[in-house]
Amino acid sequence: MRLFTTANTKTSKNEIHTLVLHLAPHKLAGIGNICPAATRGCIASCLNTAGRGKFEGVQTARIKRTLLYYQNRTIFLAQLAAEIHEAREKNGRIAVRLNGTSDIDYTGLKLNGQSLFEMFEDVTFYDYTKVYKRFLQPIPKNYHLTFSYSGETDYYKGKAGEIAKNVLSLGYPVAVVFRNQLPETFLGYPVVNGDETDERFLNGSVIVGLTAKGKAKHDTSGFVIEEPRETYERAAAGIAGAVVLIAFVPYVVLCHEDATDTQILGSIATAVTTLAAVLVVDTITGK
Ligand code: SF4
Repeated sequence: MRLFTTANTKTSKNEIHTLVLHLAPHKLAGIGNICPAATRGCIASCLNTAGRGKFEGVQTARIKRTLLYYQNRTIFLAQLAAEIHEAREKNGRIAVRLNGTSDIDYTGLKLNGQSLFEMFEDVTFYDYTKVYKRFLQPIPKNYHLTFSYSGETDYYKGKAGEIAKNVLSLGYPVAVVFRNQLPETFLGYPVVNGDETDERFLNGSVIVGLTAKGKAKHDTSGFVIEEPRETYERAAAGIAGAVVLIAFVPYVVLCHEDATDTQILGSIATAVTTLAAVLVVDTITGK
């Protein structure tokens, strides 16, 4: 059984030859949790079952690799090293994504006293991670990390936006899954199309926009972000409706000869309350 694959829809778009390691995500192998910061939304929408992942044989292989990772770490790391060495000999410059469907910190895993990053200093390693603390500790210079954002309210206790901005200010990209189309900016940073290539190591402080695919299309957890332009459109429509009400209701009352001050004030209060209600609903549905 080989550990790496090159037949990945996303990494095959990379210009550089890319190896990707797919394990059985989260607790799927029944032996431990290889996605320590996984959320309800990302577990349900995980790309593990996308593409070739829909085949039973592929799922079985991912579980076997995960079992090897837990049961014989030395053999697991030795085989990773042998396959990286082989691919480098054959292709020259290569990239390696160790966490195709997992979120393991490989920086502390050593074989004969060396990590994979130390063994292969001329290889570009890269990963996506949901573990914020990995950006706050030393990262090997040939290892590039991208923070995976989620809008779920319980993800980092609702502070994912602040954390993402910290990551961006440190010079790393943040990956965000959007419902339909990509906005131009998010969290105040430009959005690049992350579906065109998986070469995240070319990105600095940008939002890597990904469109929801497969199971993620049906996500309601907050993991997938509503396209902000839709939110603005909803808000604009609500505000326009409220403005009409504000202008129209007092106008009707004022044009009525018998309107009293109380009636006029009452109609204005109704219009203002309507405006406030529309804005509150827009804010809630726009999140
Ligand atoms: S952390 Fe990543 S690999 Fe793990 S379950 Fe979530 S989306 Fe899948």
